Order: sequence, then C-alpha cells, then structure tokens
Amino acid sequence: FAGDWRFIWASPSVETLPPMQGLELAFVGRSNVGKSSLINALTGRSGLARTSHTPGRTQELIFFEGPPDAGFRLVDMPGYGYASAPKTKIASWTKLIHQYLQGRSTLARVYVLIDSRHGLKDVDQEVLTTLDKSAVSYQIVLTKADQVKASELAERVAATSEALRKHPAAFPELVVTSSRSASGMPELRAAMIKVVTE
Ligand code: GDP
Repeated sequence: FAGDWRFIWASPSVETLPPMQGLELAFVGRSNVGKSSLINALTGRSGLARTSHTPGRTQELIFFEGPPDAGFRLVDMPGYGYASAPKTKIASWTKLIHQYLQGRSTLARVYVLIDSRHGLKDVDQEVLTTLDKSAVSYQIVLTKADQVKASELAERVAATSEALRKHPAAFPELVVTSSRSASGMPELRAAMIKVVTE
C-alpha cells in the first residue's frame, strides 16, 4: 500500500470503463457507511475519496491507482440505500453494478461495508444476493467500530457471521475497522494484499 494513490478514472456506465489492467478490489456500501473515509484511511491519502458528499449524487465507479508495484486498483462503487432515492436512480445503480460485476474478469474481490451500529439491513442483503449471483467473492467490513461498545460489537459480528452462512460467495470472516481510530486497517490491508498475490 505504501506510495502514492491517485484518482485515474470515473465511469458513469460500463461503456466507459478503463481498459482492464491488473486486478481490481472494489468497495461498496450504503451511503454514509464510511466508504470514502475507509478508502482514505487505507491509502493514507486524506482527500483521495471525497467524504460526506450529497448522498447518492454521484452514480459513478471511481478508480484509484497505486504505485506501479502495487499491482492492483481500488474501485469506489456508488453508495446505495439512501432513503430519498427515486426509483429511476435505484434502477440505474442496479444496472451499473450488475453490468460491472458481470463483465469484469479483473475484479478480484468486493468489500461490502456495513456500519457497526446498524448491522446488515435488508438493502445490504439484496446487494449480497446480487453478488452471490455474479460469483464475485466478497468480504464484509464493519465500519465505525469506535461508535459501539465492545459487547455490542461482538453481538454484531456474531449476527453478521450467522447471516453470511446463507450467502455462498461471502468470505466467512469479517474485518472490523474504524477509520477514526485506524483500528483494523493493517488487517484489511493484509487481507487485500493476500487476494491480489495469491
Ligand atoms: P460514505 O458516504 O460511505 O463515503 O461515508 P463517509 O466516509 O463520507 O462518512 C460518512 C460520515 O461518517 C462522515 O461524517 C464521517 O466522518 C463519518 N465516519 C466515517 N468513518 C468513521 C469512523 O470510522 N468512525 C466515526 N466515528 N465516524 C466515521
């Protein structure tokens, strides 16, 4: 992970994706889950992914490239599940995500972010089902762990792990993180590097 990460590409549709080159690791989650903060904390670039923008405003796949020896790109997928989303927006999100997941052989793993305070919501379960169908392996990352008590966190981890048993493409272990305290970042980086070097 060490080195300069930079924005290289934003794509509102699958017709304009960057050419496939190296592997991609993608992040997805409900809007406000802490996805931008996580990408910034992981890469050590505080302004790389834009935090706290208007929920659901951008419906784009955003690509970041690391140093040449990193050998993989990060993809920030548009957030989902904001309450006021009109049906047409949900439909265009679904189309973009389905098409990206299906046609991208360089996509090595998707990280599905879940807020430690809320756990898996119905809309998250729907996204997991979409991922199961597309046969792209994915792993759950709990975010904002600093916001809940240890006992609550343990309960959330147990409940989420239990729910994952119904999802065949899910990696069984979760990663628990906080962008604020930086806890879980070494573990998540290590998991990602394992995916791209195996
Ligand atoms: P995104 O919409 O998923 O990209 O979410 P953001 O990264 O913009 O974060 C949404 C809000 O949650 C912001 O106010 C962040 O400051 C806050 N946030 C993100 N990560 C954490 C975290 O680890 N701990 C705490 N306490 N707040 C966080």
